[in-house]
Amino acid sequence: MTLEKPQPRRLTILGSTGSIGVNTLDVVNQLGGREAFEIGALTGNGNIELLAEQARTMGAKLAVTADESQYMTLKDALAGSGVDVAAGRSGLEEAASLDADWVMAAIVGTAGLGPTLTAAARGADIALANKECLVSAGQLFVEAVKAGGGRLIPVDSEHSAIFQCLDNSQRPALERIILTASGGPFRTFTREQMAGVTAATARTHPNWSMGLKISIGSASMFNKALEMVEAKHLFEVAPEQIEVVVHPQSIVHSMVGYSDGSVIAQLGAPDMRTAIGYALTYPKRPALNVDRLDFNKLSRLDFEAPDETRFPALRLARTALTRGGLQAAIMNAAEETAFNAFIEERIGFLDMADIVEKVMDRLIDCGAAGTIAEVFTADAEARQVAGEIIAAHEKTA
Ligand code: NDP
Repeated sequence: MTLEKPQPRRLTILGSTGSIGVNTLDVVNQLGGREAFEIGALTGNGNIELLAEQARTMGAKLAVTADESQYMTLKDALAGSGVDVAAGRSGLEEAASLDADWVMAAIVGTAGLGPTLTAAARGADIALANKECLVSAGQLFVEAVKAGGGRLIPVDSEHSAIFQCLDNSQRPALERIILTASGGPFRTFTREQMAGVTAATARTHPNWSMGLKISIGSASMFNKALEMVEAKHLFEVAPEQIEVVVHPQSIVHSMVGYSDGSVIAQLGAPDMRTAIGYALTYPKRPALNVDRLDFNKLSRLDFEAPDETRFPALRLARTALTRGGLQAAIMNAAEETAFNAFIEERIGFLDMADIVEKVMDRLIDCGAAGTIAEVFTADAEARQVAGEIIAAHEKTA
């Protein structure tokens, strides 16, 4: 069977130098590269060498570093290439404003929210890797994409799986969505063992090759916590319809359960290029050079219930979903702050969840998320409170 080639399209990749960004460019190149696609903007932060190389090779219109102090380095690296250069927050806004009709949102963390909203407002299709957009801004983000007129296509492998399994014409029969989780490198660890782990061990994921933040989030299961909130908004389901099951092989990417007892699953090798390719060519399927599953070699698929005592992040996600309002934005900002403190070795691995819980409890009266400005205010407040708790923790440690 020959699959149709996608039409040439204008693309922008926010976060092109990261793990998702690099995989996105690989998919773009597999599907015809510069002959099939026009590259609007590529953005990065500290990895100027890679950003410049990507921009030259792909013939991008604009290359942006989020780090203003790197502006001249990027400009020098792209001298004579014809690629425009910008930096800082305004540069990211410029990148998001270019008229690309498909934007990969792959900046890590809440830093991705502003530019992704800008791209959404002008009607671009948003391929969403940056789950923090949905965790922080929730329904406001979904509404911003709808108001702009573009489509919101998930890239997270779990959400891409659900997107592929969820038949909207069967919506009344939808009972539950089941997010799979690998369990990360500490799946079988006791809390005593987890107490002493370092960032170097926490970042070694058993199946996926990913950026630092998401790798450590997989170890603590905070990544799954963020994904639960992401799923609620993407698929408009109630918190009690979202289940998590640990599946150490990362072959079943997620599942949808219907009222007749059927469960539809999406399977594949753990390779983000499949989800990225689907987001790029949706509703078609691209022909990709990725590993195929060999069912004769797959000896088993295991599933087990998550342990919320060893991995409190899942319980905190349920608390955020139950409390509603700005609690998920607060959870997200507190987790980002705690993650930074962990990689700087200021706190231990288990302290991350304790700190997030304290911040959520302290800001329990945060109210509803009425506007994006309120989301940013709650985010800043949560970071400040988390910072205070971390500083107090360091004094007593
Ligand atoms: P990486 O850390 O590998 O890459 C992050 C990207 O964001 C890089 O381009 C980086 O630039 C840029 N960046 C870092 N800080 C800033 C900032 N302050 N402002 C603007 N840009 C910044 O992350 P991943 O690719 O792993 O993840 C990106 C997003 O996708 C995350 O939200 C993650 O949860 C999500 N995701 C990732 C998956 C994966 O397999 N990696 C799977 C599913 C979702 P530079 O490299 O130049 O510093």
